Amino acid sequence: MALLNRDDWYDIARDVDWSLSYVSDEAAFPDKWTGCGSVPKEAWLDWDEPYRVTFRDYVSVQREKEAGAYSVREALKRANIYEKLDPAHTASSILHMGGTCMVEQMAVTMQSRFCRFAPSPKWRTLGVYGMLDETRHAQLDLAFSHDLLKNDERFDWCNKAFSTNEWGVVAIKNFFDDWMLNANCVEAALATSLTVEHGFTNVQFVALAADAMEAGDIDFSNLLSSIQTDEARHAQAGFPTLEIMMKHDPKRAQQIFDVSFWRSFRLFQTLTGT
Ligand code: FE
Ligand code: FE
Repeated sequence: MALLNRDDWYDIARDVDWSLSYVSDEAAFPDKWTGCGSVPKEAWLDWDEPYRVTFRDYVSVQREKEAGAYSVREALKRANIYEKLDPAHTASSILHMGGTCMVEQMAVTMQSRFCRFAPSPKWRTLGVYGMLDETRHAQLDLAFSHDLLKNDERFDWCNKAFSTNEWGVVAIKNFFDDWMLNANCVEAALATSLTVEHGFTNVQFVALAADAMEAGDIDFSNLLSSIQTDEARHAQAGFPTLEIMMKHDPKRAQQIFDVSFWRSFRLFQTLTGT
């Protein structure tokens, strides 16, 4: 059987939509969830992102990434690398696990909201990959931290931190409650995908991976880089959303951006003590 070239079917496959007949559009895609406001429905037809992933490509690439991250983990388990690391470095990796793991888990919920309620089928498709990405990130943090418990019991913060009233964690939780769990699709894409993922966590992941490599923590560095390759893709939900909002409701776009940028700035400033 002749197989179609990917480019011959891709644009149709990722842009499948339905004309609803049993329910109204407003009932299936309530404004509270989409966040479209005054932006007309047709405007979302222009929503596009550059990564153009298919499920088949996604699964094979992710499989490679998982195999890479876990094989380094297995090899290093026997080398007792952890014992030789600078305690200042290991403290920052514990902070990262405690502060990030549950945020990855919250991001699964945010991405699943994109899968269901985003106003463009292309965006909903990207959300499916984003949701699987974030599940992988939370699981990686838990698996690596679990391994390290025998070296340092503070790695239990990966699981425990968000159930404490530790002030730094309360600040992180409050921020992501607002922008991941309680935001509609438009707000979440502008605040999380565009502002937090491009402007802040991207820098955190890349710089921390370089620092970890320099400190000799190949395992942690490898984990961060593996996660960052996913982030670079699903964070693309931010730009096309901004483009459409700037055309149809620039005032609101600016407001979401201002609030989320300065809140992110203050959060990272607080956590890094700068
Ligand atoms: Fe993530
Ligand atoms: Fe992410």
